[in-house]
Amino acid sequence: MISKYPEKSWSFSKYKTLMKCPRAYYYSKFLMWGGWERTASERSRKAYRLTKLTTIEQFLGALIHKYIANNITALKIKDIKSAINYIGKEFNKAVYSSYKLRKEWELDPKNYTMFYSVYYKNRNLFEDKLGKEIKEKTNVLLNNYFNSNTLKDLQNGIKIIEIDKEKNYPSFFIRDYKIYSIVDLMYEKNNEIYIIDWKTGKKSSDDEFQLKLYALYAYKNYNIDLNKITLINEYLYEGTFEKRKYGKNELLEVEKFIEEKITVMEEYLDDKEKNIPKSEAFFPAKTSKYNCKWCNFKEICPEYSESFINTNI
Ligand code: SF4
Repeated sequence: MISKYPEKSWSFSKYKTLMKCPRAYYYSKFLMWGGWERTASERSRKAYRLTKLTTIEQFLGALIHKYIANNITALKIKDIKSAINYIGKEFNKAVYSSYKLRKEWELDPKNYTMFYSVYYKNRNLFEDKLGKEIKEKTNVLLNNYFNSNTLKDLQNGIKIIEIDKEKNYPSFFIRDYKIYSIVDLMYEKNNEIYIIDWKTGKKSSDDEFQLKLYALYAYKNYNIDLNKITLINEYLYEGTFEKRKYGKNELLEVEKFIEEKITVMEEYLDDKEKNIPKSEAFFPAKTSKYNCKWCNFKEICPEYSESFINTNI
């Protein structure tokens, strides 16, 4: 049975949402909870639906990750043409679903796609050059994947430890909080463990933290010596990679950092044991053009106003 309140968990993106706008955090973690039930309140059902909106970049990123995980598991055959066809078909289905299957999406948002830009009507996907853009980007991403150092390593017969176990919700614990950690790829070569994070978007200052978190996951779940871990970001759009190594103490600092952030999260709870939030009003709405423009919850947020988008706040 699904519990009345969400499980106790922490993720970097959750923490970032809280820092950016506590109200958006409330909608995305608490108001949405149970919103998949027909008996839930209309506002809660809507909040749940809004968590399922996806951007074009996120959708493409997920498809590329899936493609790469399958390609590594299977034969590693370079066939960009059929990959582009496959991704093009998935996009066509998603665009169709966003425009024509809104009712179906409203009833079952987990199994239909709704693009953010269609829902909030800020881009006409039929009129602009979306198809061409996606094809070009997919081509670049996949070519760089097939030319990547990581793939060369894989073709030399290394031992794979883990590949994108997204469906199994891999995690570890800090205190009694679950820390979800979906490693794209982990393998062993010459007694060293490599953890790979495929990136389809631009480089970000968060990339380093994310990698450190994966190292902690490897340490907690596989008891791997932290000094033997090499972390790699493969930037597929730029066709570059960054190799990082950290000392054991530096990686254990991450655990301390997360513990501190959990304490901050708990300030918003009425009951820390059961994870029961305080009331909505306790979560301040941090309105700004930057925060609100791409917020999934602007439809249900009473503090949102179109005028934020048109000002320079
Ligand atoms: S619309 Fe703006 S203020 Fe409201 S939840 Fe979203 S980011 Fe926060």
